[in-house]
Amino acid sequence: MPELPECEANRRRVEADCLNRTIERVELGEVTHMDLPGDNARGRLTGRQFTETRRHGKAIFAGSETGPWIVVHLGMTGSLRPYDAGGKEPDYAKVTFVFEGDRRLAFRNPRKFGTMAVIDDPDAYIAEKRLGPDALDIGANAFADVMGRTRGAVKSALMAQTKLAGIGNLWSDEALYRAGIAPETRADALGPDRTARLHEAVHDVLGHLVSADADYSQIPDDWLFPHRTSGAACPACGGRIEKSKVGGRTAYACADHQEAA
Ligand SMILES: [Zn+2]
Repeated sequence: MPELPECEANRRRVEADCLNRTIERVELGEVTHMDLPGDNARGRLTGRQFTETRRHGKAIFAGSETGPWIVVHLGMTGSLRPYDAGGKEPDYAKVTFVFEGDRRLAFRNPRKFGTMAVIDDPDAYIAEKRLGPDALDIGANAFADVMGRTRGAVKSALMAQTKLAGIGNLWSDEALYRAGIAPETRADALGPDRTARLHEAVHDVLGHLVSADADYSQIPDDWLFPHRTSGAACPACGGRIEKSKVGGRTAYACADHQEAA
C-alpha cells in the first residue's frame, strides 16, 4: 500500500512529465464505484494546465496558482502513469488526462480504493481533512508533542493521518524496528530519548526511500523489510522477528531488541 515515499515517487513522475501542457479533456475509464471527478469537475480542468505539484502525507496534488487542482489518493495499488499516445497504454486506467500533443496521464487503479477529486486549494483541503504534519517535514519538537499527546500504541500513532500524515503499516514497522521500540508501546510513555530516536528513525527511513524513488531493490539488507516473516532472524541482533496485531493492524517486530518499556 503506497505510503509517503511511494506517493512522492508518483508526484515526481507527474512533475517531470505533465506540467505546462494544456489539458484537452479528462476521460473516465470503465464504470466503477470509485470516488472520481464527475462531468462538471472534469470540465473545470479542460483548457487548463498543471504548473505545479505538491504532496502532503499520502495526498498528491497537481494544479496551478489560480486552481483548480486535483487531489489523488492512490489507495491500495493505485499509481499515476504518464505516457505518450501511440505507445503501450496503462491498464486499469480509471481517469486519463489527455494533454495537447501525445502526452497522457493515467490514474491507474486495479483495485478500487483510490480516489481523485477536483479542488480549489490544497491548503484548504489539508485543513478540512485535518491532516497532521507531513511525516518527512515534521521537526523533532512537533513530533514529540504529537507522541506526548497520544495514549494509544506508538504504531497506531505513527499511522494516524490526523496526527502525522504519510506513514502506513510497512514504514511504521521499519521506523520502530530501527529505533528499537516495540510497536505496542504507549506513545506518551516513550520518554524524551526514545521519542527523539523514533523521530530520527522516521526521518531516516522515509528519507532513504524518497531518495531511492521508493525502489525497493535499493533497500539495505539490514532493514526489517527483507525479513518481514514470522520467525525470521533479526539482522540487527540475531533475535526473532514476530508477527502481532497492534490496533487491528499486523505488526512485525523483533522480539528481542525492540523494547516496550
Ligand atoms: Zn533484533
